[in-house]
Amino acid sequence: MKEFKLKFKLNKTFPVKKLLFLFLLGFYTVSSQSFDIKFDSIRNNTALLRSFFSAMPKGGDLHHHFDGSLYAETFFENAIQNKLWLNTQTYILSKNPEKAKNKPGVWVQLSNIKSQDSLLFLQQKLSEKWSSKDFNILKGPSDDHFFSTFSGFEIVNNEDIGKGLLELKNRAQIENVQYIETILLQHYQSEKTESLEGFNLKLWNAQENKDEKLLTEILDEVYDNLLKSNLEKQAKEYNKKIEKTHLANRIDDDSFTLRYQNAVLRLKSPAQVFADLVLCFVSSSNSQLINGVNIVGQEDHRVAMSDYWLHMRMYRYLNSKFPNIQNSLHAGELTLGMVKPEELSWHIEEAIDVAGAKRIGHGIDIPFEKNGKAILEKMHNENIAIEINLTSNEFILKVKNDEHPISLYKKHSVPIVISTDDAGVLRTNLTEQYVLMAKRYPQFSYSDIKQIVFNSIQYSFIEDSTLKSRLMLELKNDFESFEKDHF
Ligand SMILES: [Zn+2]
Repeated sequence: MKEFKLKFKLNKTFPVKKLLFLFLLGFYTVSSQSFDIKFDSIRNNTALLRSFFSAMPKGGDLHHHFDGSLYAETFFENAIQNKLWLNTQTYILSKNPEKAKNKPGVWVQLSNIKSQDSLLFLQQKLSEKWSSKDFNILKGPSDDHFFSTFSGFEIVNNEDIGKGLLELKNRAQIENVQYIETILLQHYQSEKTESLEGFNLKLWNAQENKDEKLLTEILDEVYDNLLKSNLEKQAKEYNKKIEKTHLANRIDDDSFTLRYQNAVLRLKSPAQVFADLVLCFVSSSNSQLINGVNIVGQEDHRVAMSDYWLHMRMYRYLNSKFPNIQNSLHAGELTLGMVKPEELSWHIEEAIDVAGAKRIGHGIDIPFEKNGKAILEKMHNENIAIEINLTSNEFILKVKNDEHPISLYKKHSVPIVISTDDAGVLRTNLTEQYVLMAKRYPQFSYSDIKQIVFNSIQYSFIEDSTLKSRLMLELKNDFESFEKDHF
């Protein structure tokens, strides 16, 4: 509620806000021609770039999924510690092979294997199954492989969030990253699934007729039902769990800060997606640690495509109920050949104009959007940042080099941030994303890259303005030391 009042005040005095923002941008916009020239001398050498960017302060990583960011080695160790069983034919894990659906094959309990060679062999096999390690296109499409990894390690991933958060923190600190915003999936568990699913036909009907009035009436009814159910209790319990884990593992300290984004999976029935969204908004509005609501999952999936219109309006509906929540949406993670060309023309626009996204994840289909130029201008004018994930786009969408629209966003002065998306599944890190950007896109000078780093704090969803200012100042100081050492 506090945050809402603040926002309201700021909106009423918009010119003051705008002036303040421009002042901040000016304050943190640093350009040095001599540094730019020196940096260009290493631009074409990957090893030199890796060394440079490893040491460079990188601010924040604003787009990464908790489950996709952990490495297969971690899941393997957890599977041993949790005494899980492995099917040596299918490489499926189970807590109890008797109950596992997939019975054929030999089941072994990983904690019983004493031979180091056998463990090494199994770790390699599972790393291939759970990530892009040694991926070969002959095995099948890379996007199918990517999305199939998640169900493989799901059973291990749910065991201990704290341990995973510490892995992310440790990696971030080694990479000189001071802040991360981790995406965690939410699922509303209804006491009466049938009553929720009963709304699906009505929702699809409203979508088919593009009947926004009818849609609002349906959402009103579902929303009221959800608030009368166990939803608020679930949100409360979830927030308590996150806060307890965060504190117990001392995630935040003087040199590192982590915040969470709630997220829904866009592949479920529309009523379930709406219930998940309500859960996310309620949870986010009641926690200082959880900032923002995202929507994730394979965007070219037939459900994601066919219900997109509904999903965007569900966001709009909930934005009006929770005006203090800032949202980043995965939108336009599509390219030519994946879907019908006309389907590439409207996702980013709706994410911004209808769902009110404050940041866009991926935004790859912008060159195909019907109102592309107007969207880019709006993103520039309203400071809607684009989250660029180069390795992810290359592996999943096969979009890289000059096919990637990063240059288009730069041309229109859209605020850019660089992020990892799924560093564990994609076997990468944030440093490598900067290396790829510098190598592939020489139009980004060192000063531009430095601005992108500052953007990663500026455009974060940190609610506490004192904390945000502190992180900005620390970043500025870190850059001063870094530049003294490296130029
Ligand atoms: Zn993502």
